[in-house]
Amino acid sequence: MTKLKAITFDLDDTLWDNHGVMARTEEGHYRWLLEALEAWRAARQEPALTLTQEGGREDYLQRRQQLAKQVPERRGDFTWLRMRALEAQLEAEGLTRSAALLWAAAAMNEFHRLRVQVTPHPEAAGLLAVLTERYQLAAITNGNIHLARQPLAAYFSVAIAAGELLAPKPDPTPFLTALARLNVAPEHAMHVGDSWQEDVLPAQQLGMHAVWISALEDQPLPPRVHRIAHVKELPRVLEMLEKASLETHHSGGVYSH
Ligand SMILES: [Mg+2]
Repeated sequence: MTKLKAITFDLDDTLWDNHGVMARTEEGHYRWLLEALEAWRAARQEPALTLTQEGGREDYLQRRQQLAKQVPERRGDFTWLRMRALEAQLEAEGLTRSAALLWAAAAMNEFHRLRVQVTPHPEAAGLLAVLTERYQLAAITNGNIHLARQPLAAYFSVAIAAGELLAPKPDPTPFLTALARLNVAPEHAMHVGDSWQEDVLPAQQLGMHAVWISALEDQPLPPRVHRIAHVKELPRVLEMLEKASLETHHSGGVYSH
């Protein structure tokens, strides 16, 4: 096998469990919005909001889904969808356009403050620190986390927010963009992620190596794909590949993909 030079990482459910923080963020930023807006209106002696936490969040979700259908090229740009949905909802509630824009932006600021409060797996920082000594590292996420606010960002020389490129995974664009910025050919790179459809397949089809984080063991794996149950097992796969690379080298083989 050819020598590995770069590793790209999915983030959500790869370097941390995303479920809890997403649920807290979803609920928390909307609660913050209605409470802060209510207080603002009360101070100005304006009528109380008709929006409720539950009904308002349901309407917010429907507006996002509708918007994603109307503007399909933005379907993966979750921050844009949320911002536009909140603006429309607040205008429908009777806020002026400028007040709606201001409060939607403030709510999204709160969203990002909560969203970034992920707790990486305890092994993640140590693992990335060791890997940076041997490989170039990149992050490729469909999520809208502000990576600059996440301490693990320091380990990545390239970070791709695929939704904001208007080409969420499994589109090959974010992978190709990362490889171009790393200046590495696909066969010298590996992608690590938890989604078969969005991480493993597109990377494998581009000729990259892929590591699938999955508890399931029943799926046959195509060439260059490896499965581990947790990112902490990644060094085992890398050792195996390095060993195979050396053996190919020593036997004088000209084998390549
Ligand atoms: Mg993921």
